[in-house]
Amino acid sequence: MILGVIADDFTGATDVASMLVRAGMRTVQVIGVPQADGVGAASLNADAVVVALKSRTTPAAEAVAESLAALRWLQAGGARQFYFKYCSTFDSTAEGNIGPVAEALLAALGSDFTIACPAFPENGRSVYMGHLFVGEQLLSDSGMRHHPLTPMTDANLVRVLQAQCQGRVGLARHDVVAQGAVALKARFAELRASGHRFAVADAIDNQSLRTLAEACADLPLITAGSGVALGLPAVYEARGWLRPDAEAATLPAVGGRAAVLSGSCSSATNAQVQHWLAQGRPAFRVDARALAAGQDLAQAALQWAAQPEHASVPVLVYATAQPDEVRAVQEALGVQRAGALVEHCLATVAQGLQAQGVRRFVVAGGETSGAVVQALGVQRLRIGAPIDPGVPWTQAEGQPLLLALKSGNFGSTDFFSKALGLTA
Ligand code: ADP
Repeated sequence: MILGVIADDFTGATDVASMLVRAGMRTVQVIGVPQADGVGAASLNADAVVVALKSRTTPAAEAVAESLAALRWLQAGGARQFYFKYCSTFDSTAEGNIGPVAEALLAALGSDFTIACPAFPENGRSVYMGHLFVGEQLLSDSGMRHHPLTPMTDANLVRVLQAQCQGRVGLARHDVVAQGAVALKARFAELRASGHRFAVADAIDNQSLRTLAEACADLPLITAGSGVALGLPAVYEARGWLRPDAEAATLPAVGGRAAVLSGSCSSATNAQVQHWLAQGRPAFRVDARALAAGQDLAQAALQWAAQPEHASVPVLVYATAQPDEVRAVQEALGVQRAGALVEHCLATVAQGLQAQGVRRFVVAGGETSGAVVQALGVQRLRIGAPIDPGVPWTQAEGQPLLLALKSGNFGSTDFFSKALGLTA
C-alpha cells in the first residue's frame, strides 16, 4: 500500500478513490475503521486504501478520535503517505471538523505543516486568492449557503480554516503555484518558517493540482478535496513506488433490478430529481413531516416499489426538497432530527429493495449514502469507472451489488438515467 486516505464522508471517499483509480492505482474503500482483529489494510491487494468515515458533522472530539483510529489502521497497513479528504465545497460547521481533524492527524504523524485545498476544477470547484468558487460563484453565493447541515457562508478559506484551528493558516497563491513545484515548495518553507501550520493553496486547473501533488510529495499528510489526488499517482510512479494498472477500474457485470435513493437537497440533486420526474419515470416522495408524524413511509415505498409496474423498471425514492421546504421542515423538527428521520427511512427502503432483488443502487447525498451503505451491511467497496467526475460505480466486495454514491453537488442533470444506462 502506498497511500492511506481518511475521508470525512462516504461519497467523498468514493470521489477520491475514483481519482486514484483513473490514474491506475488499485483502490479499495473500507466503510468505517475495521476492527483491530479484522482484515488488515495490507491484505486488500490495493495501492491505495480509503477509509470512509461519517465524521463531517459529528462533534469535533468524535471526528478526531475516529480519524486517529483510521490513521493507526492505515499506518499498520504500511501506508507511506496519508491524505485527509474533505468536500470540494469545504463543508464544515463553525466548530470544525476540518481544522481539528487535520491538526490531530498532523500531531499524530509528528508533522507540523500541510496544505488545505478543496479544489476540483473539472467539477467547477476552484480556489483563487484563497477564495473558493463553485462555477463562477463564490462559495458563499452558491447553493451551499442553504445546505441542511453545513451551510457555507464565507468563501475565504484562510478565514474559515483559521477559525477552526489552533495553528496559523497562510496562503499559497496561484502566481506561485503557476511557477511550478520548486517555487511552491519554497513558499511552503517560508510559511512553515514563519510559524504557519497550513497553506491554503490556490488551484484553478488540473495543472495546478499536479503541481500541488508534486510539491507535497514529502509531506506525511495532505489535506484536500479529491482534486489533489489527481496528481499523486504520477508522483508515486516517478518514485518507482507504483506501476499503473490499466485494469484498475474494471468491475464485474451485475444484473438485477436498479433503484435510485435520493436524500440530498443540493441544487444539483434537485435538478436531477426534477429531470427524472420530467421523464415520467416512477418516483416515490418521502415527506419528512409525515415521518415525524409517525407514518411508516419506508413500508409504503416498498409496497409501491413491489407493484408489478414498478418492479420491472428502475424506481426513485426521494426526500430531496427545495431550500424553502427544507428550512420549514428543519424549523419544525430540528436539523438533526429531520436529517436522521429521512436517513433512517431511506436506509430501510434500501434494505427492503435489496430483499426485492435490487442489485444496482444510485444514492444521492453524502450522509444519505453513509446511512444506506451501513444498512446494506457493506464493509468494503472496490472502485470502478466514473459515471461523471467524482462519481464512480463501485462494487460491494464479495457481493453481486453495485453502488454509485453521489455527493449532493455532483453529476449532470440526467445523472440518474445516465448511471443506469437509460435512454431519455
Ligand atoms: P449532500 O451530499 O447534498 O450534502 P446529504 O445526504 O449529505 O446530502 O445531506 C442531506 C441531509 O438532508 C441528510 O441528512 C438528509 O436526511 C436531510 N434531508 C433530506 N431531505 C430532507 C427534507 N426534505 N427535509 C429536511 N432534511 C432533509
